[in-house]
Amino acid sequence: MNNPLLQSFDTNYGAAPFSKINNTHFKPAFEKAIALAKSEIDDIVSNPASPTFENTIEAMEFSGKILDRISSIFFNLNSAETNDEIQKIAQEVSPLLSEFSNDIRLNLELFKKIKTVYLQREHLNLTDEQRMVLEKKYIGFTRNGANLNNKEKETLRKIDTELSKASLKFGENVLAETNAYQLIITEEKKLEGIPATAIEAAKDLAKNNNIEGWIFTLDYPSYIPVVTYATDRELRKEIAISAGKKGFQKNEFNNEAIVLQIVNLRHKRAQLLGYKSHANFVLEERMSETPENVLSFLNDLLEKAKPTALKQFKELQEFAHKDGIETLEKWDSAYYSEKLKKELFNLDDEVLKPYFQLDNVVAGVFSIAQKLYDLNFEEIFDVDIYHKDVKTYRVTDNNNNEIALFYTDFFPRKGKRNGAWMTSYKNQYINNGVNSRPHVSIVCNFSKPTESTPALLTFNEVTTLFHEFGHALHGMLANTTYPSLSGTSVQWDFVELPSQVLENWCFEKEALTLFAKHYKDDSPLPMEYIDKIKELGSFLEGLQTLRQLSFGMLDMEWHGKDPANIKDVKSFELNAFKNTQLFSDTPENCMSTAFSHIFQGGYSAGYYSYKWAEVLDADAFAFFKETGIFNKETATLFKNNVLSKGGTVKPMDLYTAFRGQKPTNDALLKRANLT
Ligand SMILES: [Zn+2]
Repeated sequence: MNNPLLQSFDTNYGAAPFSKINNTHFKPAFEKAIALAKSEIDDIVSNPASPTFENTIEAMEFSGKILDRISSIFFNLNSAETNDEIQKIAQEVSPLLSEFSNDIRLNLELFKKIKTVYLQREHLNLTDEQRMVLEKKYIGFTRNGANLNNKEKETLRKIDTELSKASLKFGENVLAETNAYQLIITEEKKLEGIPATAIEAAKDLAKNNNIEGWIFTLDYPSYIPVVTYATDRELRKEIAISAGKKGFQKNEFNNEAIVLQIVNLRHKRAQLLGYKSHANFVLEERMSETPENVLSFLNDLLEKAKPTALKQFKELQEFAHKDGIETLEKWDSAYYSEKLKKELFNLDDEVLKPYFQLDNVVAGVFSIAQKLYDLNFEEIFDVDIYHKDVKTYRVTDNNNNEIALFYTDFFPRKGKRNGAWMTSYKNQYINNGVNSRPHVSIVCNFSKPTESTPALLTFNEVTTLFHEFGHALHGMLANTTYPSLSGTSVQWDFVELPSQVLENWCFEKEALTLFAKHYKDDSPLPMEYIDKIKELGSFLEGLQTLRQLSFGMLDMEWHGKDPANIKDVKSFELNAFKNTQLFSDTPENCMSTAFSHIFQGGYSAGYYSYKWAEVLDADAFAFFKETGIFNKETATLFKNNVLSKGGTVKPMDLYTAFRGQKPTNDALLKRANLT
């Protein structure tokens, strides 16, 4: 058998052997690995000894390792470097995988064993972590139908297979629409206002396509400069409306029916399992616990933020009015925000960008990780990569102990999905006394270097990098026994704390001086910019807050009630937005049909968690500010109680152990200037 995915990885660090893998390896590897994982489960089930924590729960934790490995490689590639062939394989293997996991989850004999252990849990002398993994496994089974009769189980399996196909299709449609769009400009004067780097990139793209002129796309580094800077209002309108049409056009990539299919399947599934709604089902395992708690959390913030948001909207409208704009539209929002920002602060992205050369920012975030958590990053060149843009680092502590393998993949390309994310190729866990270290990756879509300039980041891209790096720290510093509780495997409304808290360092002089220097002459970012950056942190934050709340509320609307009577995606969405909508509606646009977070990714009934985590991150950072942003003691408390603990302890307990008290939203309201 010559399939590199099925052999033990003899590469350095046991890293994924990308150069040996080709697409034909995936399907047979999945089939074999699934069979192997099945037989490991069969061994647990057929073990004649009476069930114990070790022979059941622990054995399950360490089963299916090869399948995990193959899945992470394959699905990471499907996000970062996909093509038609990989997407086709994904369509084929996804049903196999959900069938397999359902086979386990609905395995009655296995459940009986787990239940036996679960019922004895008080008498087993378990550690806190063991108890957590046991409870999580048990609930995992009951939430997946362990208490259903055979007919109901059959129904559940059918729903899950359909759901997995529908979500995959949803994402493919969004990607197809993104890739299909090109805005070709032939008149140079239309480009007025757009930054030179974006124009240059558009020119390069046109050249590569043998087209005279400039090509802009819906990839963020191409799209964002147009809507933010193009003086030509029609141009902004054209590209903004095109971006808002994803999945909402009368073509083969329309997602309306898929949205309705997904929410109805989710509701049916929740009801089958005895929950009132999909949101009730989801939130049972969250820090927030119930839809009612989430709604009151969102409504409370809406109430506090709305007066400021309305005031800021009015200010922006008046500002645009001076430019002859009668009604401020969506495609004016970024443009006039940027313009107002420039007038108030005289500090636009293009002024700051030269101070944020990608390489410097990366070195800066590494040095912050060194100061806070004693981590060292050394770039290495002997690890396999899947694309030439990928860089790899060996991460060690101050005693040269291996902490992690770290990948970065920063630039957009066809086949990489939008946005930025952290992922891993391998979990951390401790097995047979060996602490097996994780392989962590961050993937972004930052502005590429051009022929004349190195990669320079907007300030927003800087905070994005810090955000993803915060997730990466959570993964890299993981120190738990069981893989299912390791690193970022925490309750969802807690997972954004490590990422969002790190963004705060981007606004601090003490941190910025480490890396913000002009790429041409190393001159430091001028002090006045640093003060302005801080002030800028709360600029139009009322509008931003309202936007985030609108997404959170839309998500809860889709998932908190019986969707059976929803006939029209667009009008349902409009209704969900009625308390948060500031701009007039664009009839040919729809948010839901491209809302990948909740219909492709795992954020359904969970979008609120961004704001939830903001409350946590503001409160946590207030603690750092009180004690010093590089205070080792505070950092160590955060590392020991949050970053290294994964999901081994309930989030509120972890947080309280770090902070010495429960979080309040005072710090967030103050930071965002919403008081
Ligand atoms: Zn995040």
